[in-house]
Amino acid sequence: MNLMPMYSILKKTYDNSYAQPAFNITCYNQLKSALSMHESLRSPAIIQVGMIAMGFLGDAKDMYHSTFKEKKSGAENAIRMLRDFENEISIPVAIHADHVKEIDICKMLVDVGFTSVMIDGSHLPYDDNVEITREVVRYAHSEGVTVEAELGVLAGNEDDIFSEKSTYTNPMVVPDFVQKTGVDCLAISFGTKHGANKGLSIKLRDQIVTASKENLLHCGLDTILVSHGSSTVPQYIVKEINLNGGVLEGVGGIPIDELKKVINSGIGKINIDTDMRLSITRNVRELLLKHDNLSSEKTIKEICNSLEINPGEIDFRLYLKSLRTALIYGSKSDRGASLIMNSIEKGVQEIVSQLVVHFGSLGKSTLIKFESLEMMREVYRTRIKRQVIKAG
Ligand SMILES: [Zn+2]
Repeated sequence: MNLMPMYSILKKTYDNSYAQPAFNITCYNQLKSALSMHESLRSPAIIQVGMIAMGFLGDAKDMYHSTFKEKKSGAENAIRMLRDFENEISIPVAIHADHVKEIDICKMLVDVGFTSVMIDGSHLPYDDNVEITREVVRYAHSEGVTVEAELGVLAGNEDDIFSEKSTYTNPMVVPDFVQKTGVDCLAISFGTKHGANKGLSIKLRDQIVTASKENLLHCGLDTILVSHGSSTVPQYIVKEINLNGGVLEGVGGIPIDELKKVINSGIGKINIDTDMRLSITRNVRELLLKHDNLSSEKTIKEICNSLEINPGEIDFRLYLKSLRTALIYGSKSDRGASLIMNSIEKGVQEIVSQLVVHFGSLGKSTLIKFESLEMMREVYRTRIKRQVIKAG
């Protein structure tokens, strides 16, 4: 496996008019399946772990309020999981932490082996956002690790990320933020939304992307623009969930054509989480309806009950609670559990294959030259030296 800083994977996106989908993962079989699908499609992979997922993988008592120690153990587990596929996977891979709010957690993730971290100071006043981002950049770059930050606020609700209203990014401020912080990738707000309830006829503010990218290029900055909250929420999957006992009403995502437009305007990385939750939920519901004899197994019975009580739930960590250990470590103890893990893997394949093709990342592995963390560390060091000479 070519484990690399995330920036090294993304830097060819703009010149080659494609974007890299970045998938959030939260369990072993999801990671296994995402990596093998990317490998088959010869597309580089960005594996993202959010903070709730970090708690989950760290076997936290309460994944929504996990301690530093539990997050650290989740991060170590994520790296260990990745190492399991070292010999099978030859595409470039980056492992990225999504929406980290604290500096000390970013530093811990760099130390544990993440090749990219996001420091999300978007909720803070501008100067404070600059300050925490700058501190994370200083630490991460000294190890060659990529940093993503966020400017502007996305509306929507996903895990612990919540905002009622969106504040669009001001493209005029983008170069100033990048120059002051030295950040490699920047999430901007231009109409996408976290969660499954994005609305049914979303139009993106393409002009924000165009102006942000042009302003960056004008200043000689090759920062990657990132689109969060970009799940497409395929309506055929929503329909199938509802046909199999689920109740999802009024859920909608970002149309593929809207995403293709912003890829042309300068978005290089597109984050996807909800779409996989949907395809996995559809598969699990279908499986359990088809094989009702499975419910004689205690763990499976619990899953059936949970799905019945919560027909709108798409977070599989919640309704698959009885399989928690198997989700974290990937063991397949019995027939029911192994069929569920298979449903997870198929759900991942369905989404990864579609979006890799739609976003143009199919076959792009060969474009990417291997760069190690050490090599990037030297790049950053030389940049700082040059700045010091210029300032002096
Ligand atoms: Zn996000």
